[in-house]
Amino acid sequence: MIKSWALVTGGSGGIGSKISLDLARLGYNVVIFYVKNHGRVGETIKKLDKIGVASKSICVDVSNYNLVKDTVNDLILDLGGFDVLVNCAGITKDALLKDLTNSSWNEVIDTNLKSCFNVTKPVVSSMIKKNYGRIINISSVIAQTGAIGQSNYSASKSGLIGFTKSLALEYAKWNITVNTICPGFIKTSMTEEIPDKVKEKIIKKIPKLKFGLPNDVSRAVCFLASPNAEYITGSTINIDGGFSMV
Ligand code: NAD
Repeated sequence: MIKSWALVTGGSGGIGSKISLDLARLGYNVVIFYVKNHGRVGETIKKLDKIGVASKSICVDVSNYNLVKDTVNDLILDLGGFDVLVNCAGITKDALLKDLTNSSWNEVIDTNLKSCFNVTKPVVSSMIKKNYGRIINISSVIAQTGAIGQSNYSASKSGLIGFTKSLALEYAKWNITVNTICPGFIKTSMTEEIPDKVKEKIIKKIPKLKFGLPNDVSRAVCFLASPNAEYITGSTINIDGGFSMV
């Protein structure tokens, strides 16, 4: 049984909670960072207990540099560091550029991209000391295709791909791999907001003719976190039912 810790940001969300549970099934103890879905995070913690791993959930705004630095450093002192980091926290604030407010731009960039700097910086220092680490950044197919009304989201998620590649180069010699996953449309509260008529149009454009499930993403995260993925770093893996090809 693995006895090391994984940190999953956005671990109360549709995708993040599934990732947390599947990493626990691999034997990882899990820390969840989140800001919403207090109910679901409670359920997830109960399920993590049942699986038999240790866990913690912490309500922390990942866009807040100082708060994240202090929280992560305290956790590293307490738990001895992290072997796996999944940067999964994310939001959308959609609007055409002409209507996009300064605050919606900043909120999305800070939550989706700057958060990864905030969290990864202290975590990677602990990984260097262990000479081991697996960092998995959850981007989006929208990073590659763009989408009307999502210039802020697309920019934040494209930024993650470059961030991943730079870190992969910086930290390969410490046995730390860094990869990006680009999910397509996955059934969670984020995609529930899409009106049904728009959903129908999107589904027609997906070669697999359906939305994916959180499970589809978590399986890839678990693979990247496993010893089998030791030689994969700097990669961008699409889990989108073929959407990015069309
Ligand atoms: P979700 O809304 O169900 O979950 C989002 C999670 O992020 C929640 O746990 C929430 O608490 C957390 N979060 C949001 N802002 C935060 C902040 N400031 N500080 C800490 N935590 C914060 O969304 P989801 O569908 O599970 O999405 C998870 C990730 O996958 C996101 O990064 C999203 O952009 C990405 N993604 C989702 C889809 C999809 O179709 N659902 C597709 C591509 C990429």
